[in-house]
Amino acid sequence: MWTCVLCNQTFQNPNQIHYCGDKTIDDFLIGKSDKTIDLFNHFITKYKEVGDIKLHATKTMIALSANKRFAYIIKLGKDFIDIVFPFKEPFEDNYCFRKIAAVPGSNDYNHHLRIYLPEDVNDEVLTYMKKAYINGKDI
Ligand SMILES: [Zn+2]
Repeated sequence: MWTCVLCNQTFQNPNQIHYCGDKTIDDFLIGKSDKTIDLFNHFITKYKEVGDIKLHATKTMIALSANKRFAYIIKLGKDFIDIVFPFKEPFEDNYCFRKIAAVPGSNDYNHHLRIYLPEDVNDEVLTYMKKAYINGKDI
């Protein structure tokens, strides 16, 4: 574990590139609708049932981590939240992702998920949440 002396965030890789700013999770929730905040809380609660997770505010998004970062909440919309899971292979055979995009310069495929309703965090989505979490545990 490496701890950034500037912002006290911990990372698995020494000198991990990150954002040292003083944004907090609350900064992302300011001005959002009750519906969006409920969705955010629901998603995080469901994830905590999967395993122990930490949240980090970055400049533009909220990262979820275990031993390393494994998922990102990239947008808190008017009545939805957008989440990205990076995986090493594209899981094309799914009903939940809006878009799967290869990340230039890496082996990752970003899987984009949009949640409008609490029940959108269904069994299929949970399967991918667990898959991402295992990547975050780095086992
Ligand atoms: Zn830092």
